[in-house]
Amino acid sequence: MPSVGPEAPGGNLEETVCRVCGRDDGTLLWDGYGAPQYVICDCCGIESGLGDDHLSKVRETRGYWVAAGARWDVPGRRPKDWDLLGQLSRIPTEWR
Ligand SMILES: [Zn+2]
Repeated sequence: MPSVGPEAPGGNLEETVCRVCGRDDGTLLWDGYGAPQYVICDCCGIESGLGDDHLSKVRETRGYWVAAGARWDVPGRRPKDWDLLGQLSRIPTEWR
């Protein structure tokens, strides 16, 4: 795939997968220009642009969240067959 700069129309930097927990409900968290949408994750509770803008912060936040039992910020959104490890495995490589 050719690389497209962040300045390209539409960009290619869109992210719907939470950098901290790997949850993806299709909500745009970072737009195509690499700008955060300040959306709070139903799962880990971090807000895109605030809790996930640096790899060290993402890793630290994830560590605390998992260590505290990986509780859902909005428990009602948790699927009955939720698979923590499966979800974590979907975290984009650059945010692991
Ligand atoms: Zn999350």
